[in-house]
Amino acid sequence: MHEFLSPRTIALAIVIIALTTGALLLVSSRQNGDSRSLVTWGIANILGGIGTAMVSLRGFVPDLITVVIGNALIILSYSLNAKGTMDFCRRKIAWALVAAPAVLWLALSFWPAFISSVEWRLIVNSGFIAAASFAAAAALWTLKGEHLVTRKPAAFWLTVHGCVFTIRMIPPLISTVPASNEINASPLVTLIMVESLVHVTLISFLQLSLIKDRAEERYRRAAETDVLTGQPNRRAFMDRADRLVRESDHWPACMLVIDVDRFKSINDSVGHAGGDAVLVKVAETIRAHLRPTDTFGRIGGEEFAALLPNTTLQSAAVIAEGLRARIAGLAIHAAGETVHVSISIGISAIAGGRADLDHLIDRADACLYEAKRTGRNRVVAREDGMRLAG
Ligand code: GH3
Ligand code: MG
Ligand code: MG
Repeated sequence: MHEFLSPRTIALAIVIIALTTGALLLVSSRQNGDSRSLVTWGIANILGGIGTAMVSLRGFVPDLITVVIGNALIILSYSLNAKGTMDFCRRKIAWALVAAPAVLWLALSFWPAFISSVEWRLIVNSGFIAAASFAAAAALWTLKGEHLVTRKPAAFWLTVHGCVFTIRMIPPLISTVPASNEINASPLVTLIMVESLVHVTLISFLQLSLIKDRAEERYRRAAETDVLTGQPNRRAFMDRADRLVRESDHWPACMLVIDVDRFKSINDSVGHAGGDAVLVKVAETIRAHLRPTDTFGRIGGEEFAALLPNTTLQSAAVIAEGLRARIAGLAIHAAGETVHVSISIGISAIAGGRADLDHLIDRADACLYEAKRTGRNRVVAREDGMRLAG
């Protein structure tokens, strides 16, 4: 067992995994939008692999190569790894700061008192590794605004790894470490090397997974967003509204179906592109008029819908009337002309009872039809056949 888990065997495994995952990360960077992080992570793994190979040759080649250059490469590999993670998290970090730990290590190596002290080498080396791991972990813990499944597991693992190397600083601080020309094969060293083996394997999978999570998040957002207005599209609106309507803690809730009046004639006068510009402005104005808790989307060509949770039909009618007046007061510049538009709005409500999205939209549509029939640029709201506004 001891022979099997000799530090050199573990080091060989680390070297093989670091080099292959490094190559894998570099290959993936060729087909991905987040290629900068992948390239940085890939180079970091390859340098780490080379550094580990050098360190494990201790006793066979001069200490200058193993202790000085090998460790400098390992330290640089950790800094680069953190740099890649910070890039991924859109955190800026200067290249000078990335290079600083390795440069400092090389500078310290010229100092005989430092290079001859196993304790100080271990403390400084472990300190740099812990700091880089914590920096990368902090960037991931504080990354906001994206739903990435791997974010927390990756941040957690980097924190664990940082803690392991913080703990590794303790023994040389309190006692002397026997100087040896071989890699020290104590149980603690074996344990830390096994942990490093797990780290180099796990972190590459976590990094690839983070990249995949972000790509999926982008596709999901694109699939839910209307290309012209940037607002949620029909499918996204229906999904969100369906969820809201079923939850009774949002009741009473109201559905607004909004249609631009005589939009065909607007297209006729300012052209299709001009019509598009009008739609963008109308969508923006509606969204700005609604509350953040309201769900809004473009459900058809010049048709929009909004679901207002915790709103009575009376309040919804007031909100809709304000919206109607606001749109009617707009002077929209499109295709070199000033365009005036109006909207008609139909409103239905659930107040307990039947919480069925299709039924709610059908009833709001019926009100919208009535608003169109009775002259347009108006709001019609009905509850159980009783007309409340319009
Ligand atoms: P009303 O609703 O008041 O009865 O009249 P309308 O002219 O708005 O009626 P209708 O719903 O029949 O016409 C809607 C028009 O909207 C038809 C279509 O050419 C136009 N339209 C639909 N989607 C778009 C779009 O994305 N861009 C532009 N420019 N026009 C669109
Ligand atoms: Mg219309
Ligand atoms: Mg229409």
